[in-house]
Amino acid sequence: MSNTELTESLHGRVLMPDDDGYDDARALFYGGLDLRPAVIVRVADATDVARVVGYARERDLELAVRGGGHSNAGHSTTDGGIVLDVRDLKAVEIDVEGRTAWAETGVTAFEFSSAVGEHGLAVGFGDTGSVGVGGITLGGGVGLLVRKYGLTIDDLLAAEIVTADGELLHVDDEHHPDLFWAIRGGGGNFGVVTRFRFRLHELPTVVGGMLMLPATSEIVAGFIALAEAAPEELSTIANVMPAPPMPFVPEELHGTMCVMALMVYAGDAEAGDRALAPFRALAEPLADMLKPMPYPETYPPEDDSYHPTAVSRTMFIDSVDADVAETIMRWLEGSDASIRVAQLRVLGGAMARVPAEATAFAHRASRIMVNVAAFYEGPEDKVARDVWVEAFAAALRQFDIGAYVNFIGEEGPSALCEPYPGPTLDRLVRIKTRYDPTNLFRLNQNIPPAV
Ligand SMILES: Cc1cc2nc3c(=O)[nH]c(=O)nc-3n(C[C@H](O)[C@H](O)[C@H](O)COP(=O)(O)OP(=O)(O)OC[C@H]3O[C@@H](n4cnc5c(N)ncnc54)[C@H](O)[C@@H]3O)c2cc1C
Repeated sequence: MSNTELTESLHGRVLMPDDDGYDDARALFYGGLDLRPAVIVRVADATDVARVVGYARERDLELAVRGGGHSNAGHSTTDGGIVLDVRDLKAVEIDVEGRTAWAETGVTAFEFSSAVGEHGLAVGFGDTGSVGVGGITLGGGVGLLVRKYGLTIDDLLAAEIVTADGELLHVDDEHHPDLFWAIRGGGGNFGVVTRFRFRLHELPTVVGGMLMLPATSEIVAGFIALAEAAPEELSTIANVMPAPPMPFVPEELHGTMCVMALMVYAGDAEAGDRALAPFRALAEPLADMLKPMPYPETYPPEDDSYHPTAVSRTMFIDSVDADVAETIMRWLEGSDASIRVAQLRVLGGAMARVPAEATAFAHRASRIMVNVAAFYEGPEDKVARDVWVEAFAAALRQFDIGAYVNFIGEEGPSALCEPYPGPTLDRLVRIKTRYDPTNLFRLNQNIPPAV
């Protein structure tokens, strides 16, 4: 098939470097990447997906799959290859009575949450509404309902996927159960998912939003202790960082250390207030925006033109005691990056009750997820900030050697056993070898097929 034949055979749009809209279409959430795909195909349906997969396979082109564009590693673009862009696949079909929904892969977490939220229903994704449902689900999905309902994949009932040979497969517990297991944590290694079927939870309102406290090591350790002891309805993301110059932060506090916490209590307002009271009592809040709201409103507002440049490291740790909190404060205070952060997510609850071997996300017993990040300006600064995040992460590392695949950046894991412990990796390699023996889907945290 030639380029013209490809264009004529598709229902969606094909963008070449000279076309209007090409530069917008190749941009991702993160700035700092300037790769130029030979062609970007904005597919319109599953038939288009199969055609593009066949086209890339026959020509041995590097194939990137792009959904919400939030890949921390820049995997959703390519220099000189082909981008299969699923952003226009946005249909959502809701079965309100049955409490399930099919979502096409191009919807964002916010778009899907808003659609099902109209019926008082919800699935947990992450902390950012513009993240694509495809990317987050395939890696696992750790968000503000994680302790109450588990990971996003714990609500995944079925999916439709175009595999490397161009076939569209329906996968669930009964059909291709090996593939269904693998796509729950194994990322984009196995094909292009066109639709996901989710279980929905009845959740008309939550108590959620942002609580900003001044940060000292006592407050950081105290916050984590409270988050660990809190009822499972409460999930928290504590960002320890210099207070940003946001309108609600008094000017004299800009740049002083704070805990900017995103919190969701998945239950009624009174119980939520009770669960949140000890956090509010840790210190006089700098800002308290926690209130009853529909779940989709917990996603902070976003600006489409915002393309930060940042480096980060991710890991799990077992505890944040006074010493760990002190280390966090010392490292953050010792840097002059415009934005630097240690993000702490207390896990457990429903996520931890799923057996490690039930899905390809095996880190069920991990207690706290940490991401350390620094923004950079330009290539030289990037090197310096990268050295800093690496050293900061090393200072925090404890016994848990795992990492969440969706937060691993362009540095890659130091070994694939970080995201995938031994038995999980062995099984993933067997499934990869069966469904993608030539490693067509390799722009991801790649699981190589056995040779
Ligand atoms: C600001 C920000 C906040 C985040 N917050 C969270 C969070 O709270 N919780 C969390 O769990 N994660 C979070 N993430 C990580 C996020 O889940 C991953 O980066 C995810 O891969 C992004 O999905 P995407 O579709 O937006 O990205 P894309 O860059 O479009 O896709 C990323 C990769 O996923 C694969 N992929 C995407 N769609 C498909 C598909 N349909 N079929 C096959 N493969 C596909 C491809 O390999 C692709 O390279 C965050 C990321 C950012 C940048």
